[in-house]
Amino acid sequence: MENCIFCKIVAGEIPSPRLYEDDKMIVIRDIEPKAKLHYLCIPKTHFAYLSEMDSEKAEILKYCFEKIAQIYPTLGLEQGYRVIINQGENGNQTVPHLHIHLLGGEKLKDF
Ligand code: AMP
Ligand code: ZN
Repeated sequence: MENCIFCKIVAGEIPSPRLYEDDKMIVIRDIEPKAKLHYLCIPKTHFAYLSEMDSEKAEILKYCFEKIAQIYPTLGLEQGYRVIINQGENGNQTVPHLHIHLLGGEKLKDF
C-alpha cells in the first residue's frame, strides 16, 4: 500500500532492525517505547482494521498470535507481556496498517 509507513518498513524502504521475520510478519522495536520493552508485530499483508476481517486476514492474525506465543521468550518477555491492538480514532490508532503491540520487560501499570 502506497504511503503506508509499515508497508515501507516491511519492504525495507524505511530501515528498521527486525527482531524476527518470516514470510508473513516482522517484529520491530517501537520507535517511541511505552514500556521498557515495546515491540510491534506487523503482518506483511496490508490491512488497516479488524473490521476488514475475512477468513484470509483471520488466518494472518492467527498466524501472528501463534508465532508470538513461540518467540516471546526470545524478546525478553518471558515474565509476561501485554498485547494491544489499537483501532481507529478513539483507540488512538496512528498507523492504519494493523499491528500488534507487545509491551513488557517490567511490571506494567493497570490501565
Ligand atoms: P498505533 O498508535 O497503535 O497505530 O501504533 C503505531 C506505533 O508505531 C506507535 O507506537 C509509534 O511509536 C510506532 N512507530 C511509528 N513509526 C515507527 C517507525 N518508523 N519505527 C518503529 N515504530 C514506529
Ligand atoms: Zn501498510
